[in-house]
Amino acid sequence: MPVLYANDQLSVTGFSSMTRIELSAYPDRQTLLERVGKIRHVALDMDGTIYRGGTLFPYTVPFLGRLKEMGIGYSFLTNNPSKSVADYLKHMQEMGLPATPEELYTSAQATITYLKAHHPRATRLFILGTPSMTGEFEKAGYASTADDPSDEPDAVVVGFDMTLAYPRLCRAAWWIHCGKPYVATNPDWVCPTDQPTILVDCGSICAMLEKATGRKPGATLGKPQPEMLDGILDAHRLHPFEVAMVGDRIYTDMMMAHKANAFGVLVLSGEATLADAQDADPRPDVALQSIEQLGELIAEARL
Ligand SMILES: [Mg+2]
Repeated sequence: MPVLYANDQLSVTGFSSMTRIELSAYPDRQTLLERVGKIRHVALDMDGTIYRGGTLFPYTVPFLGRLKEMGIGYSFLTNNPSKSVADYLKHMQEMGLPATPEELYTSAQATITYLKAHHPRATRLFILGTPSMTGEFEKAGYASTADDPSDEPDAVVVGFDMTLAYPRLCRAAWWIHCGKPYVATNPDWVCPTDQPTILVDCGSICAMLEKATGRKPGATLGKPQPEMLDGILDAHRLHPFEVAMVGDRIYTDMMMAHKANAFGVLVLSGEATLADAQDADPRPDVALQSIEQLGELIAEARL
């Protein structure tokens, strides 16, 4: 397929039925291909990257098959900790995308990895989260403490709690006020939805707790924090430069790629537009129409 290169490393080639866009931060195409050739693992954002809403993109399954054929691993990454890994796998299966627990990484798991590394003696947590998220922490060996002043936790974890209850919110504030280590799963203010409502997310719950206690979380996991990639790097023994972080949002997906020294691939199948990609600072390593085009680029780099 012909790809035209303009001075700005932007190429837009019209085809009979599709427009092909490639915006690269590299001085020439050969340099880009050499860089792409180093990729051994692809970390994929989910909504806007592999599906939109509840509909899988038609090229997602073929793209993953192509990665497998090339011996390149992949993981799915989400900032949303409200569903457990098992719930996510079920959701993906229903969309026609079979995945294994090892392939999925949520901000709840990033938080668990963080706690084990930074608060190794913490075993009892006061958790503001959905039952599904609390279950994920229990599965990792943590005890979840009750809304009771005598049931003292070692640390407080605040997540995207879609089951938020006022007494538990006040109890979390109490333990934060008492100086317990305090960690948030993800920074998002709201969770995107097509329904006529606002899904108040973890960042907003933490803002409320900050007003009440004067404390911000000691750590906030999830994208754009580079720690979100740590579990994947450890599990697959990868260096950051061997990972391509692929997503549709500049200020989370591409910011994390930049902070983690991974290869940032912006796809224009979700939130960001071509104009956003051109204005982005830092610029993604490459902006493409979709992951389908990324599959082609990786294959070309390995020729
Ligand atoms: Mg996305």
